[in-house]
Amino acid sequence: MSTNRRDFLKLAGAAAAAITSAAAAHAGVPASSVAKFDDEYDVVIIGSGFAGMACALKAGQAGKKVLILEKMPTVGGNSAICGGNVACPVNPVQAAQGIKDSKELFIADCLKDGLGINYPNLLGTIADRCNDTIKMVVDCGCEFVPNKMLFEAGHSVPRSYEIKAGTGSGYIIPMHNELKKLPNVKIMTRAKFDDFILDENGRVVGVTYRKGYRFDSKLQ
Ligand SMILES: Cc1cc2nc3c(=O)[nH]c(=O)nc-3n(C[C@H](O)[C@H](O)[C@H](O)COP(=O)(O)OP(=O)(O)OC[C@H]3O[C@@H](n4cnc5c(N)ncnc54)[C@H](O)[C@@H]3O)c2cc1C
Repeated sequence: MSTNRRDFLKLAGAAAAAITSAAAAHAGVPASSVAKFDDEYDVVIIGSGFAGMACALKAGQAGKKVLILEKMPTVGGNSAICGGNVACPVNPVQAAQGIKDSKELFIADCLKDGLGINYPNLLGTIADRCNDTIKMVVDCGCEFVPNKMLFEAGHSVPRSYEIKAGTGSGYIIPMHNELKKLPNVKIMTRAKFDDFILDENGRVVGVTYRKGYRFDSKLQ
């Protein structure tokens, strides 16, 4: 693993996020120990899978200066290699095929399959926003198998769109192409997030990362 010098990125003041409990468990780097920041962004995103790319797209389209740090040499993460079928309760294809579905049924299915450890409020957010998400990826150029709903394990009714490409690359490639059109969004590969930089109140004001990161295949 190459361990090039660490770079320090500053989050623009307005976007500095209150520290989350996950981050709180992390010791973090005190901002007072950082002599100089190398760059400043409104939004710094760690990882270029579905979550990171969707976040970058929304923030970039809102005019924010965005950076994605991706530790691997290519973008996409697990998202690029996954099956790519996406469950979306109460969607127009179901309606056209007379498939009866509901937010409540989707949440019940996920809780059963997830042995009750899921967060019901987040499942509700998925149900409420999935049609917007489908529109967002279609607007990027993603293509689904037309008029098809997959009946996947754990679901009580057919409710999953099938991506034409057959893998998650069917989202990642068009989303990446869309991001390349935004001059205010930068993607850095082989850039590994290391730590949060915290102010005296424990708020995240920046991050440290390593350039030129090489995944150590011996870790497998
Ligand atoms: C084989 C397989 C098949 C699947 N099939 C389906 C399916 O059909 N339908 C479905 O809904 N879900 C499926 N899933 C689950 C789905 O792929 C994941 O839930 C989803 O991809 C997670 O997206 P993400 O953006 O959160 O994470 P990821 O896509 O994993 O992205 C995280 C990114 O962060 C990067 N990263 C991590 N640490 C750092 C760091 N310190 N610094 C910089 N970068 C970092 C990683 O390299 C990676 O690129 C499947 C998963 C797998 C593995």
